[in-house]
Amino acid sequence: MHEISLCQAIIDTANKQLKNLPNAVVVSLHLSIGALVPVDLDSLLFCFPLVAKESQFSQAKLVITTVAANSFCKNCLKYFAIQQRGSSCPNCEGYHYQVLNGEEFLLKSIEIQ
Ligand SMILES: [Zn+2]
Repeated sequence: MHEISLCQAIIDTANKQLKNLPNAVVVSLHLSIGALVPVDLDSLLFCFPLVAKESQFSQAKLVITTVAANSFCKNCLKYFAIQQRGSSCPNCEGYHYQVLNGEEFLLKSIEIQ
């Protein structure tokens, strides 16, 4: 399952940040996830405790902030928030736009005890 490997990737990234704090108990992990990232957040939240079991992340909560995907339409020269890949510009219905963000998957901060 795709979400399991994402959970593993989150833990790997956090482990690198915590390499000098091997005994720290992680309280929460703050993630910033772009609206265009193909991930099921409910599955991610469900999988995380399973993947984190018996690690220093076993008590950790995932705190997810979804980042809107801003796009710039080169046709009508307007910015808009795109909901999903492949949708058209809400102003002119065109497809000639540039996606500026919304594809990030970032571990923003780690809260430890
Ligand atoms: Zn447009």
